[in-house]
Formats: sequence, structure tokens, C-alpha cells
Amino acid sequence: MRFQIRILGFALSAVAGCDGGDDNRAMSRNHVTVPTGAALRVKALEAILEEKGLIDPAALDPIVDMYENKVGPRNGARVVAKAWTDAAFRKRLFEDATAAVAELGYGGPEGGYLVAVENTAKVHNLVVCTLCSCYPWPVLGLPPVWYKSFAYRSRAVRDPRGVLKEFGVEIPESVEVRVWDSSAEQRYIVIPMRPKGTEQMSAAQLAELVTRDSMIGVGLVKAHA
Ligand code: FE
Repeated sequence: MRFQIRILGFALSAVAGCDGGDDNRAMSRNHVTVPTGAALRVKALEAILEEKGLIDPAALDPIVDMYENKVGPRNGARVVAKAWTDAAFRKRLFEDATAAVAELGYGGPEGGYLVAVENTAKVHNLVVCTLCSCYPWPVLGLPPVWYKSFAYRSRAVRDPRGVLKEFGVEIPESVEVRVWDSSAEQRYIVIPMRPKGTEQMSAAQLAELVTRDSMIGVGLVKAHA
């Protein structure tokens, strides 16, 4: 029962300090910031699991650090910039993306079986997971909310050009739109077209131009970020 009392006490103290019932509000009275509803539930769950000895708090820290600091679309942007500037890497990337991104130190959960698909003047690629939300975490981070929505998952396959228009991307009829359905066994990263006028830019400068959306296929890379 000790953990229940601890959780109850935590929840009560949060509510008691919140004069308007808004758990997002910082409590200046006692200098404690109350977590959001979801964060509060996570903390409560974490406390219970710790109390029962089901998780080791020390083991959680590297996981939290990974998703806070190490994975994210900037990794993917570096992959794209390297593909644009290093022909040998580009070749390896299209042969085996999982192995190629591992050269840059990217891999881990949700990162296996990665496939890179290339946008060209003739083909535009769009990625979706119609079943759920499969997404290459090590190179793109966690999926955006819209990627997981039923509307995107269903419409991306039924009307990809319409969906792209809503993202502000108009693909000419002469360009084929290919939709890739991700799964737990295969995830995708789009290698967008390198914009004109960037010939003199370094890989680091190019990476700054690459957006998350362009690597899902719902955005294009522009010469000026
Ligand atoms: Fe999925």
C-alpha cells in the first residue's frame, strides 16, 4: 500500500497547489511546476513500477536521454546532406540504409530495416503507416501527431496528391507519386531533391535546409530555410 499512498499524496499535492484546476500552470506559490495531465500519469506509473521493483530508475535515464537528446530529424537531415555530397555514401544508402545510417552512429529501436527512397524530377515519394504509426525513430525522432491520425493514414494512400496539396506541396501530373506503407519490418526515409543554388554549400549547411516533413515526403527542401 505504500506506493498507493505515495501516488495519492503526489496527486493531492498537485491538485491542492493548483488554484484553478489547470495542471499545466506553474505554481508560483510554492515554486513547484505541476506536470501536464499525461506527464503526471507517467510519473505516477513510473513511481509504482519503481516501488514494485519492476524497473530500475538508473536504466530509464539512458532511454530518456536518447529520446530527448540523441534521436530526431536532425539526424536524418545529416543523412540527407551526406547523400547529397558523398556519392559513395549515397550508393551505400540506397543499397542498405540501415547499414549506411549506422556509419553515422544512428540506429537502435525502430531503426531496423530502413529503406531510403529518392525523390527525382520524375518521382515523388510519400511515406505513411496505414496500420499504425511505424516510423524510423533513429533518423526522424518520434512521429508527429498527424502522421498517426486516421485521416492521414487513410487519405495518404487514397488521395496522395490531395494530401500533399494540404501540406502546400503541389506535384505536377507529369511526376509520379509513390506511396510507401511502413511496417514494423520496413521503415522509410525520403531523400528529397537537393535544391538548385546550393552547389557551394557544405554538408553542415545543407543539413540545416532539410526538414522533417521533406524526409516523410510531405515537404520539399528549399534553398533558403
Ligand atoms: Fe505502424
